[in-house]
Amino acid sequence: MPIRVLAPEVVSKIAAGEVIERPASVVKELVENSLDAGASQISVEAQGGGIDLIKVSDDGAGISASEVELAFCRYATSKISDLDDLGSISSLGFRGEALPSISAVAEVEVSTKAPVDTIGSYVYLRKGTVARRENRARPLGTTVAVRRLFRYLPARLKFLKSVNTESSHIANVLSHYALAFPEVRFTLLLDKRLSLHSTGNGDMRDVVNQIYGLELAQAMLEVEGRDSIIKVSGLVSPPSLARPNRSYLSFFINRRWVRSPLLVRATEEAYHGLLMDGKHPVAIINISLPPEEIDVNVHPAKAEVKFRHEQAAFASVKEAIEGALARVPVATRASAKVLSFPVTSRRQQSTWVVSEKEPISVAPLPIPGLPVLRVMGQLANTYIIAEGPEGLYLIDQHAAHERILFERILAQWSRQEVEVQGLLQPITIELSPREEQMLNTNRENLAQFGFTIEHFGSRSHLVRAVPAVVAATDTIEAIRTLLDKLASKENATPWEEKIAESLACHSAIRAGQQLSNEEMRELIRQLEQAKQPRTCPHGRPTMIHLTSYQLEREFGRVS
Ligand code: ADP
Ligand code: MG
Repeated sequence: MPIRVLAPEVVSKIAAGEVIERPASVVKELVENSLDAGASQISVEAQGGGIDLIKVSDDGAGISASEVELAFCRYATSKISDLDDLGSISSLGFRGEALPSISAVAEVEVSTKAPVDTIGSYVYLRKGTVARRENRARPLGTTVAVRRLFRYLPARLKFLKSVNTESSHIANVLSHYALAFPEVRFTLLLDKRLSLHSTGNGDMRDVVNQIYGLELAQAMLEVEGRDSIIKVSGLVSPPSLARPNRSYLSFFINRRWVRSPLLVRATEEAYHGLLMDGKHPVAIINISLPPEEIDVNVHPAKAEVKFRHEQAAFASVKEAIEGALARVPVATRASAKVLSFPVTSRRQQSTWVVSEKEPISVAPLPIPGLPVLRVMGQLANTYIIAEGPEGLYLIDQHAAHERILFERILAQWSRQEVEVQGLLQPITIELSPREEQMLNTNRENLAQFGFTIEHFGSRSHLVRAVPAVVAATDTIEAIRTLLDKLASKENATPWEEKIAESLACHSAIRAGQQLSNEEMRELIRQLEQAKQPRTCPHGRPTMIHLTSYQLEREFGRVS
């Protein structure tokens, strides 16, 4: 379609507005234009957080020489032409606002070549008007360079954050488009450093590897769902790889990156009962549906979309993710790091154990094992008495806390996010030859859990850092127990579980310790979230459960 200025009645219907808030908005608009132009390679360069320079080059369709200047007129677009088109938008842009808005707040240079032209065009704009125009040879495609952004808008400049923050917003925009368009090769240079590079081979997992790292890339579960109207696809993390905030949730509707509280809720509901409090999944969800099923003309930056059938969209996404979580995928990866206690799936019973050398399985879903319990009191400073929908629970406070800590420590370790406490004053520890030998063979393993222990001469060692869970306890005792545990040949427990077990046991609340109501409630709340709430890491029960039926029978109310 040629570029044309939209008729006033169309303009009056578009949700126009200021689209250039910060440098990342410029990047977003330019990258969207390159994608709309069918580019297979897009390279972005930014300097000084995008204030000094933003340059986006593509190998797309280009702008013909006769239209280059028109592209900078307000409401000039080649993507829609009349009111009818507004109801079924399939391009990312449609308002003809980005180029004029950008050239109003920065110096812009465009060089472009379309197949219809024998030579390319170059245009330089200042304060929104063309200051220079010439023919310039170049390959097919378009390069837009934006310099001195907001120079004449000191108020806007002041509002911007540091160069690093603005650069990270730019990287965030690029990451999302790379996820949504894995078949496009993206490169991002931030202050001349390569910050992102996607291969363009069409595999979303490869992009996830670039952005979130190998562990997630290999563990992510495939999402797939479709009905007659909507198709849902993408990748979601297994519950064991949850993240502390929602910034790892990405949604694309017809490949447009959108914010959507509705889709966030659908995703989190699919994980209901599977994540600890304050944990959130990683999800990259693509939704495709006929363009007339959505309205993208609701937000100036086109960052929000309205579904015609909200409930149906919600249900489709939730079900597709639930389907992915229910499957037990087997992914191969080099370094085996998965919680390997047997777990029970919500939808299927399965028990499995991973040996260290086996290809890794991603844990099937743990059953949300405990109902919500109401704490009633403490017995003998050792047991917590609680009531649930199915009767009475007596919970061993030490065993329960051990279970909670054990899962937490292993989860942190598998994400390589163990909390470490550096010691201001290093502690000296004297080890027996046997202990010393265990230390030497396990030094690297212990380091993964947060221990920094240096040899100090003879059999003395200096402890410089410890896992945060043991920081407030007798650390020397913790290390001795741990080395002892590692030396034991008791069973085939993997070393990481031995360490986690020992740390959990050492740090857990003791029997005989009085707890406040608040502490008991917190403990029970955390136990409810545990994957295996009913046993401690050594396999002993954490609780005795008397069902309502058992109670009634004991009291002779039923026979
Ligand atoms: P919109 O994307 O809403 O149409 P823009 O102001 O972003 O509005 O762009 C105006 C027009 O310029 C587009 O409709 C398109 O025809 C053309 N254009 C902009 N960038 C490119 C590009 N990288 N490659 C090809 N054409 C482009
Ligand atoms: Mg555009």
